[in-house]
Amino acid sequence: MADATDSENHRLELARERYRAERDRRARPDAATQYHPATGEFGYYAKDPYTAWVDREPLTDQVEVLVIGAGFGGLLTSSRLREAGVTSLRLMDEAGDVGGTWYWNRYPGVRCDIESYVYMPLLEEVGTIPSERYAPGEEIRQHAVAIAEHYNLYRDAVFHTRATGLRWDEEEDEWVVQTDRDDQFRAKFVITSSGTLTQPKLPGIPGIEKFRGHTFHTSRWDYGYTGGTASGGLIRLADKRVAVVGTGATGLQVIPHVGEDARELLVFQRTPSTVDVRDNRPTDPAWVASLSHGWQRERMENFLAVLAGEPVEEVLVHDGWTKTIDLQRQFLSGAVDTSLPAEERELRDERADLETMDRLRARIDHVVQDSATAAALKPWYRYMCKRPGFSDTYLPTFNRPNVHLVDTADAGGITRMTETEVWVGDTAYEVDCVIFATGFEVGISGVMSGALPVVGRGGWTLLEAWAEGPRTLHGFSSHGFPNLFHLSAIQNANSVNFAHILLEQAEHIAAVIARGREAGARYLEPSEDAQEAWVRTVRETAADTKAFLTECTPGYYNGEGTRQAGGNSYSPGPISFHRLLRAWREEGMNDMLVGADAEVVR
Ligand code: NDP
Repeated sequence: MADATDSENHRLELARERYRAERDRRARPDAATQYHPATGEFGYYAKDPYTAWVDREPLTDQVEVLVIGAGFGGLLTSSRLREAGVTSLRLMDEAGDVGGTWYWNRYPGVRCDIESYVYMPLLEEVGTIPSERYAPGEEIRQHAVAIAEHYNLYRDAVFHTRATGLRWDEEEDEWVVQTDRDDQFRAKFVITSSGTLTQPKLPGIPGIEKFRGHTFHTSRWDYGYTGGTASGGLIRLADKRVAVVGTGATGLQVIPHVGEDARELLVFQRTPSTVDVRDNRPTDPAWVASLSHGWQRERMENFLAVLAGEPVEEVLVHDGWTKTIDLQRQFLSGAVDTSLPAEERELRDERADLETMDRLRARIDHVVQDSATAAALKPWYRYMCKRPGFSDTYLPTFNRPNVHLVDTADAGGITRMTETEVWVGDTAYEVDCVIFATGFEVGISGVMSGALPVVGRGGWTLLEAWAEGPRTLHGFSSHGFPNLFHLSAIQNANSVNFAHILLEQAEHIAAVIARGREAGARYLEPSEDAQEAWVRTVRETAADTKAFLTECTPGYYNGEGTRQAGGNSYSPGPISFHRLLRAWREEGMNDMLVGADAEVVR
């Protein structure tokens, strides 16, 4: 027995050493500053290839509610507000239509990587069912359109429009909104739901601007150049030598299609993803026939509870996410299993982690025929250091004679680009086209970055108020900024099924606004006491993820190796957070109602 434990400990120690060595091999002193945003001279990477720009007159009118962002967060909040009787509502988005991430990401192979039955919201309300367990992106985008039509959200909506300023008018108790289309209109309530992964980013490769071949980012796929659709058939690549840069969740979905159709595909990898079994399948009509009213909410709650480590009577979703909950606990918020002392629990989780990672590394050896390629595809880090990946087509793509893996880890990524070549160290690769699957800027776009300046009561800006970190009540609203609500994971709950998190946030905001209208509140603004109490609660209950993130290979989960990411959400997890919100609502929401008869706290 002692021998078995000793050998297990030895295996753990070897894995730790290997993981550290791989982490150090990838660390870059320029961390997050290594990337270029797709703005300025790189602005063409962010241009909308899907919808034609239409001129319009600037708006100078007034609406009751403005919702900035027409992805699922904005659509869900608008839907619930419609149900609560709000008729004057304007959706606004920089994109040419609704859908958010599903509007932009139309690359070949794009799919949901959470089970569609729990990811795609309002299935019962809209009266639809996904065609597959992991639905194609186009079907999800069409579902977003269906939600907008079902709740009449196109009326008053504006697209290809970016909010550039919000100023609270203290005389009129409303927001003055400015945009990049010269609009200046008024809104009583403003809701920001502008996403956390929206702006494409490019690697800061020296010479990237010199490249004269074709190039684009996966979130602005150029089907005019490649031919085909999101289902594949990229026939115009048949005579092309194509480079794909990036092997994250997007790379995993794109690479099999490009590999199938390009004359030659070079995959430039810096850090390999984990690639677990996908097991997609068409939706079973017999299962659909067995569903009764309320099934989706029940399934969503069950999935969320399982992932958050809460007890459930029966696990309804069996997939790669529910199989690995103990490993996700290291990084995502949720209930802590207190049946073991912390040290023993951590050791148990680390052993389970190694078992999973060994299984995933063995899967590569089993599928990929060339041993050098198989070795380079193996991920050496703990499971949740990177976003887990799932695919049954990615690994076999490397058995194709026209597909080559270029491992750039030793060089820290691509070294430089010329008019026709991509260089890694001393080797040049001549290519016709470079496709960047290099991800997105991470954060609350606009509000947090300062791209959308918000001026509240007394001329105080939101960035000034948040100079030492966000200060909110429950993540939604801040003292000094009346009638302004945010959807995000900051000081709020988080989960891999973020669509469910957004649904709860939407329902909460709609309920607060409805209550304010009913109580005749002059406006809605958290009391400073309630806000500060929440900031303390988030801080005092925060899980310490620093030790875990420090050991991780660089990525956006750990601030590209600076360990400065994470820790901003409510650590006890979404189930207890949603319970807490419901209780707060039932108690009358009195921390928010200013000027109402029922007002208690100010
Ligand atoms: P990621 O940021 O996850 O991946 C970017 C990739 O680009 C990484 O492999 C990165 O390597 C690589 N890269 C960056 N710079 C260089 C360089 N200089 N040279 C070579 N390689 C480089 O972006 P994704 O678009 O893949 O995913 C973003 C997020 O979108 C996911 O985490 C997920 O949350 C979401 N997503 C969800 C999907 C779904 O189905 N629901 C599908 C796709 C994405 P390294 O790891 O070394 O930094």
